Order: sequence, then C-alpha cells, then structure tokens
Amino acid sequence: MSSTRVLVLNSGSSSVKYQLLDMRDSSRLAVGLVERIGERTSRLRHTPLLAGGEPREVTEPIADHGAALKAVAGELSRDGLGLDSPELAAIGHRVVHGGKHFTRPTVVDDAVLAEIERLIPVAPLHNPASLTGIRTAQRLRPDLPQVAVFDTAFHTSMPESAARYALDVEIADEHRIRRYGFHGTSHAYVSRATAKLLGKDPSEVNVIVLHLGNGASASAVRGGSCVDTSMGLTPLEGLVMGTRSGDVDPAVIFHLSRVGGMSMDEIDRLLNTRSGLVGLCGDNDMREIRRRIDEGDERARLAFDIYIHRLRKYIGAYYAVLGKVDAIAFTAGVGENAAPVREAAVAGLEGLGLAVDGELNAVRSDRPRFISPEDARVAVAVVPTDEELEIATQTYALVGAGHEPSPAPSNDLT
Ligand code: ADP
Repeated sequence: MSSTRVLVLNSGSSSVKYQLLDMRDSSRLAVGLVERIGERTSRLRHTPLLAGGEPREVTEPIADHGAALKAVAGELSRDGLGLDSPELAAIGHRVVHGGKHFTRPTVVDDAVLAEIERLIPVAPLHNPASLTGIRTAQRLRPDLPQVAVFDTAFHTSMPESAARYALDVEIADEHRIRRYGFHGTSHAYVSRATAKLLGKDPSEVNVIVLHLGNGASASAVRGGSCVDTSMGLTPLEGLVMGTRSGDVDPAVIFHLSRVGGMSMDEIDRLLNTRSGLVGLCGDNDMREIRRRIDEGDERARLAFDIYIHRLRKYIGAYYAVLGKVDAIAFTAGVGENAAPVREAAVAGLEGLGLAVDGELNAVRSDRPRFISPEDARVAVAVVPTDEELEIATQTYALVGAGHEPSPAPSNDLT
C-alpha cells in the first residue's frame, strides 16, 4: 500500500490545529482543532470530511499537548484514519521560527530539535509549542518522518539590506537581532498561485502579497524569492493588525517605561494584545468595524483609516523595492473577504497602474480571481491562502521524493 497521506499539525501555546490530507489529489480527509489545552474547558472539534462524516466534539479536560495529540489520534482512528495507518507518509509541523539557516522544510532529527530549541529566546511563545508537538508525534509514531516547515523559511532569501536593522552590528549579531519575517508558507503559496493566475512561471513575475488576517504582513516577491517583508524579529512589526500595533517609534517603549511607569511585560502585552484595531476602536473583526462605520461610528472610521493608511504605505514601499510590479495579491481573512479594504488600499493609485473594478471586487468567491480592470497595468488579485496545503505539499515533496534531510545548520544561529 502506498503512503500518500500527510498529517499537518499547527501547535500553538494552548491549541493544536490539524488536517489530514491525501496528497494524490490534495484532498482533505479530516480537519480539527483542540483548544484551551491545560484548562478545564478544553475542547476538541473534529470534522471527518469523508462522505457522511459528521463533526464531533469532545469536551473532556485535556492536560497537555501530549494528551491533545492522543485525543486527535483517537478521533482519527474512529474514522479509520488512525496514525498507525501505513498510508500515513509523514507528519508536517508548522514551526514559527527557524532563524536564519532553516531555509527550507527539514526532516526532524535530534540536531534539528536542538536548533529549534535554541531559537526559543527569539520566539518564546511559539517554538516551545512546536517542539512539544513534534516530540509528542515522534512518541506516537517513532518510525515516521516528522518534517518541520518554518514560517520564516521563505523570507531567508531577503538581502541583508532588507533583513538587517540599522543597529550596532556586533550587538545585533550577538542577540540574533534581524528581520526574519513570518507567514512565510502563506506568502510562498500565494505568490506562486498569483503567478499561476497570471499564466506565468513564478520566476517571471514580481508580486506584492498582502496577508491580512488577524495577524497581517506584506511581502515583496521578485521572481519567486522574497526580497522584503513587513514583520521583523517578531510578528509585531509592520502593518496594523487585529490586536498588534505594527510599526511604532521604538521610543514609545522608553516613554511608556520612564514616563508611564509601565513594566516591560505590560508594554509587551499592550503592543501585542491591546493595540492595532482593538486598541483603536475596541473591535478587531473587520466585519464589525465596517458595520460600525456604516452606523456612523467615528472611532471605527479612524481605526479603519489608520489600517488603510499603513497598508498603502507598504504597497508604495514595496513598489519601490521591486521597481516593476506585475500583481498585488490580497489574502487571508480580511484580504479575501473585505472588499472595502481592497478598494481603499489601492484607491487613487492609477498613477502606479493600480485600480480595482467595483463589480469584480464585490464578487464573493473562494477561488483565485482578478479584481482589476482588464486593461490595468498591474493586476490586482484575491488569492485565498492555504497554509495547511502548503505545509503538506512541502512535507510530501521532501519525504515522497526521497530527498536527503537538509544539511545540519551551522552554529551561527541567527
Ligand atoms: P488568523 O490570523 O487568525 O489566521 P484569518 O486569516 O482567519 O486570521 O482572519 C481573521 C479575520 O478575518 C477576522 O478577524 C476578520 O477581521 C476577518 N474576516 C473574516 N471574514 C470576514 C468578512 N466576511 N468580512 C470582513 N472581514 C472578515
């Protein structure tokens, strides 16, 4: 029996999202989510996607990631899709931070685990969860390849001019401070899908990708390689997000500490969880913000305007970085669904060859599509992202094609 299935695991600090895919046709066999791990109110929602499968919910307390994965394995078994199946080719893990040297998906071994662990200081919230997910999966299926797919990998092609902050070089290097970028699997997938929509090879086109979800980032992709992206050392830099500030003058932090008397942890929480749209108007859901704007709410209007202003600045910046742009692609929850955001982001930019056709922009669809007029110099597109499919594809390409694992990264960890 051939092994064509890939389980994709996305382990967060208190959650695990998973999908089981059959790579013969990239179809999904089951999807699910374990939430509130470690709390009494844990919940597992499992949806088998085979004919006739009904969604199921388990609400017993789930103590840790190990228990979560065992519960997931149990649900998959009930559908005849257990982790012991010989049809399972590999498990692909989303790992948020791969530093500078994990430039591609990598079969996990002890050295790779050690490396992910050594990157914890630059990803304290994310990498520990990924490690736990990988170690638990290894225990469940020690014989199976576990593949780490890094959020940062796509951005490792950025030139030093984009990746370095203008800081003292020795201090920056000592503390591994540089711009790593995140959402890499999405930027990779969407930039390729945009080239496909244009009928071209990725190597032939320059694309600005706008990944606008709860977290948001922009990237400039030249001929298939990322040359700049808006997130930096952490996913805090760049665009206005649901709860994150994006760019602020770093002196805001000194000011809040010295004058505002806030601790570093308080400032960290302020910028990451009480800023962005939620800080500006109390809501981080773009649907709710649009509804409030329609009712004449001034705070919601201002939040929207600040969000759009920042987005337009990045479009302009990446236009200049690329020199020539073939397409701008909107993706993720806001980018795929919020027509007013797309319209406002490029309004008045005809001088740059950018325009949106009102009717095309209003169409709701889950398919990649153009929303610019036919004669536009630069295509504007909506391209739904699919990070799980990208992780599964990268995992299967590595395992299925029988590649050697990536060479062990050097000791220079940045
Ligand atoms: P995450 O970063 O959590 O993966 P998503 O890409 O799923 O986020 O995006 C979630 C966001 O998408 C929501 O907070 C909401 O602002 C936005 N969103 C989802 N559906 C719509 C819609 N129909 N109209 C406008 N915004 C939407």
